[in-house]
Amino acid sequence: MVYVLAKNGKPLMPTKKHGKVRHLLKDGKAKIVKRTPFTIQLLYESDNYTQPVNLGVDAGTKHVGLSATTGNEVLFEGEAQLRTNIQELLSTRREARRARRNRKTRYRKPRFNNRKKPNGWLAPSIQNKVDTHLKLVDMVCSILPVSNIKVEVAQFDIHKIKNPEIEGEQYQQGEQLGFWNVREYVLYRDNHTCQYCRGKSKDSILNVHHIRSRQSHGDRPGNLVTLCETCHTKLHKESLENYFHPKDKGFKDESQFTILRWFIYNGIKEKYPDVNLTFGYITKNTRIKNNLPKSHAVDARCISGNPLAKPPVNTLYIKQVRKNNRQLHKFNPSKGGIRKANKAPYLVKGFRLFDKVLYNNRKCFIFGRRKSGYFDLRLLDGTKIHASASHKRLDLIESATSMLKEVS
Ligand SMILES: [Zn+2]
Repeated sequence: MVYVLAKNGKPLMPTKKHGKVRHLLKDGKAKIVKRTPFTIQLLYESDNYTQPVNLGVDAGTKHVGLSATTGNEVLFEGEAQLRTNIQELLSTRREARRARRNRKTRYRKPRFNNRKKPNGWLAPSIQNKVDTHLKLVDMVCSILPVSNIKVEVAQFDIHKIKNPEIEGEQYQQGEQLGFWNVREYVLYRDNHTCQYCRGKSKDSILNVHHIRSRQSHGDRPGNLVTLCETCHTKLHKESLENYFHPKDKGFKDESQFTILRWFIYNGIKEKYPDVNLTFGYITKNTRIKNNLPKSHAVDARCISGNPLAKPPVNTLYIKQVRKNNRQLHKFNPSKGGIRKANKAPYLVKGFRLFDKVLYNNRKCFIFGRRKSGYFDLRLLDGTKIHASASHKRLDLIESATSMLKEVS
């Protein structure tokens, strides 16, 4: 798939006609604006015809799935791996600063009362995740004429469970889907652990069991309990049905992750007012009903509302890395009490860390550099290409950014 921008920079429908693209580029009627994903911009006025494109976002703390679809085709699909080291790096920094203060290396006027957090402050690790989701949505919207964005804001809809009589667009999906909602809540409430053996059976398949008959006591959370399949079968076989008693306790609060997803949703809504929301139980139901494999990108496809769109040939993999190493000196002094600089040169033989390079006709990334000019080359999933490849055999494809991109 080649993504196409109009002369004014607005995205058009992508094309699969590689021959035509080659001609346009050769004749100077288009130029390349991005290598990954491959995007060209037309240099002449064209009719700016577009179809409605839905973008589904499977938000996450470690992985993000993205899928842009029309009714019959997936135009873009990608998975991003987010940074998880921010909290650790900040506590290392805090430690280093504290140690430096104690060493009294220089006089500095005492500073105090400068610790007030501004309104809307989020912990840096959380803020980064919110920002990255926005960045990824921006990236897709810059290459495709996205008309509608959908984000999964929670695994289940707690408001619907609390007030089943609520009416509204997303509440008219029938009783069956209503049970999927409660089921997802009960699994969350019971920490995804069997309430009979507490996980001792090692059975990973979980069922949600009706304590009293569904006809008399219904699908309310108080009448449901999480059981592993082993215990569920055993309970029915040995007539232990009276082991549990229905109870209506209060509701368990939303998880941290759900709160983060609401931040992401609100962040996207600020920039793209056409954003809609959905819930995980709907995504899961759609995926299982259509017999689709479980992955972040496929979930995003289900969220986009076109689960049966023709799957793409390629998926874009994105890994987020830090831009630079801000620690100036090694933490532990070497013999003689000298603190060595912790800085690698900006360029080693013309290459930076995380540059995308061609080695033996394979595209890979520089994951480690040595002064000698022999580098550690890997793919984004960590697959080793070469532990010590000479810089002479490398060709630079793309300079390092904080979002490494690989098509596969
Ligand atoms: Zn069990």
